[in-house]
Amino acid sequence: AEFRLSEFEKLRVLGHGNGGTVYEVRHRLTAAVYALKVVHTNTADASLRRQVYREVDILRRAAGSDRVVRFHGMAPTPSGDVALLLEHMDGGSLDALLRRRGYRPFPEPALAAVARQALLGLADLHSRQIVHRDIKPANLLINATGEVKIADFGVGKVLRRSLDPCDSYVGTCAYMSPERFDSESYGGDYDPYAADVWSLGLAVLELHRGHFPLLPKGARLDWAALMVVICFGEAARAVPEGAASSEFRGFLGCCLQKESRKRWSVAELLGHPFVAADYRAESEKALQDLLHEEMDES
Ligand code: ATP
Ligand code: MG
Repeated sequence: AEFRLSEFEKLRVLGHGNGGTVYEVRHRLTAAVYALKVVHTNTADASLRRQVYREVDILRRAAGSDRVVRFHGMAPTPSGDVALLLEHMDGGSLDALLRRRGYRPFPEPALAAVARQALLGLADLHSRQIVHRDIKPANLLINATGEVKIADFGVGKVLRRSLDPCDSYVGTCAYMSPERFDSESYGGDYDPYAADVWSLGLAVLELHRGHFPLLPKGARLDWAALMVVICFGEAARAVPEGAASSEFRGFLGCCLQKESRKRWSVAELLGHPFVAADYRAESEKALQDLLHEEMDES
């Protein structure tokens, strides 16, 4: 074990996921606050155990990136589960932030800051041969200073040599790219880096629309409906004409290219005018304003 759970005091629940629960905890001695992700590995289902070791492996490989949630170690719990000690992102996830805003869309400059920082995170991951495979607003976290970081590597993967076409289905299907949807159904091959870019484009578009952008507001996300809109729809058209600047529309178009070969890479997107350095200070200020507006109201 890299730390002892008894050194920490549980403050509250931060979130729930498939595999477990995330708590806000305080180090008794230093009063420093962290997030503690407890994964229920103490089950007959060995896949959760494999998943948590994969997550830890990726968090270690990604150490040093300041756009990926920092990892401080793992420890067993008395009940036989595994706890991961993580940097606490005190603004929570972007989907929770959207909910706290009553689903009011994020303004464009704030979205530019989100997109830029998430792209920097993906660049760090992709340069280390890591694919996330579950990029969505719930897995993008923010702190009070407006820093956005990538979290939740429960289904991430380190690519070794060739791509593995037999890789089993993982991730949240709503954010899956068309080629991935297809390949999961037919056992084909796809570029997992390009698939992360699609998911990021969709996540940013969701924060712009205030709801999952490919279906009408409130619609149920069932497999058949998703298959139709992802594979046969035009995601890039989900931005109504006039509702966004041409830079923003262009950016979304580059992320949401249905054909993965035409989709821009993370490196290319970092040079897109929508996230260009000229507006960096302005967009980061817009994101901070949005965050503090929410904090004042709550
Ligand atoms: P998995 O997909 O591996 O089952 P999960 O969805 O159960 O993962 P996470 O996404 O890591 O777990 O965490 C669930 C939620 O807990 C997040 O959406 C977020 O609201 C909250 N959370 C997770 N990590 C942190 C953190 N470091 N700081 C603040 N909140 C966090
Ligand atoms: Mg998650």
